[in-house]
Amino acid sequence: MHVVVIGAGAAGMMAAYAAATQYATVVLLEKNNKTGVKILMSGGTRCNLTHHTDARGIADVFGHAKRFLQPSLGAFPPQAVVDFFESAGVATKIESTGKVFPVSNRAVQVRDALHAYAVDVGVQIRTGCGVTGIRPDGKKWLVDTGKTVIATDRVIVTTGGKSWPGCGTTGDAYAWMTELGHAVERTRPALVPLLGGDQWMRELSGLVVDDSIVTVLPVAGKQKALARRRGSLLFTHFGFSGPAAMDVSGAITAASFDQVRMIADLVPQYSEEELQAVFSDRQDNGRTRVSALLAMWLPNRLANGIVAQLGQDVR
Ligand SMILES: Cc1cc2nc3c(=O)[nH]c(=O)nc-3n(C[C@H](O)[C@H](O)[C@H](O)COP(=O)(O)OP(=O)(O)OC[C@H]3O[C@@H](n4cnc5c(N)ncnc54)[C@H](O)[C@@H]3O)c2cc1C
Repeated sequence: MHVVVIGAGAAGMMAAYAAATQYATVVLLEKNNKTGVKILMSGGTRCNLTHHTDARGIADVFGHAKRFLQPSLGAFPPQAVVDFFESAGVATKIESTGKVFPVSNRAVQVRDALHAYAVDVGVQIRTGCGVTGIRPDGKKWLVDTGKTVIATDRVIVTTGGKSWPGCGTTGDAYAWMTELGHAVERTRPALVPLLGGDQWMRELSGLVVDDSIVTVLPVAGKQKALARRRGSLLFTHFGFSGPAAMDVSGAITAASFDQVRMIADLVPQYSEEELQAVFSDRQDNGRTRVSALLAMWLPNRLANGIVAQLGQDVR
């Protein structure tokens, strides 16, 4: 059996390795001049390999995609991922967030391990080799690289999605798949910083609230949250970023922008009632300013910004 795998990211190297362990002759074609460029960028160049949980724990955070992912996660659960990399010499550590990283904090070690796994079982890796199209030809497939056409028994397409072109992910395969009769979902950003907020918020650019709960709600109808995340929130010159904003961004891009709104609880450690009690406490005869109270929990610049919107600094 001859197999061509198109795209040497994490999925392609793993697929090529798996096919070669089943005695296939495997050629892995990569458009970039090196394998796994996106892996090198991942996790802030540290590569968050997996999470300290079981297969169900991973599936549960994927919403409606959970059922699709379950068989793969069940066959290759987080502990198997850790064992796979540990066997290749990538020592791992669990951080306080539950995220698993290489002890070295170097994503390149993860890329090198996947590359070595594939090479060790005989996968031929051809870099600088972009595929321009695939087509069936009787019982074979023809893979066109622009310079040559490779006839093969099976093709595995692992060209990634459509994201930053510098990674090589320009969405080439969407057209191939559509032409072959597959339904291709509308693509949308799933993990991105957000544009928005008012001018005074944008002037807080660079400010981080370490602990916040960010919620996305429909503008109208039932007020059931579409997404909610607790984590740090970063104010930027164009809107919001940081883990909490990024994690709910998929719920915003899935909807029409004018049909959803985002709210942020910047003091999640206290309930609304507890905060109201603090603000209505008159034991100091109202001498403590609102900005001073807010500054107990929030950075000064943010406390002052909120008070400026209130128009007065007295209770
Ligand atoms: C900034 C950032 C940080 C991330 N951090 C993490 C993290 O810490 N942990 C984590 O698990 N995930 C992380 N991710 C997500 C993770 O990197 C991706 O989900 C994963 O790399 C996708 O792997 P893939 O093999 O499906 O696709 P890709 O890595 O995109 O690989 C596709 C490959 O196909 C090649 N290709 C495309 N078209 C062609 C063609 N026509 N011919 C030949 N080759 C082609 C591309 O050049 C590319 O090398 C991060 C992503 C980003 C962008």
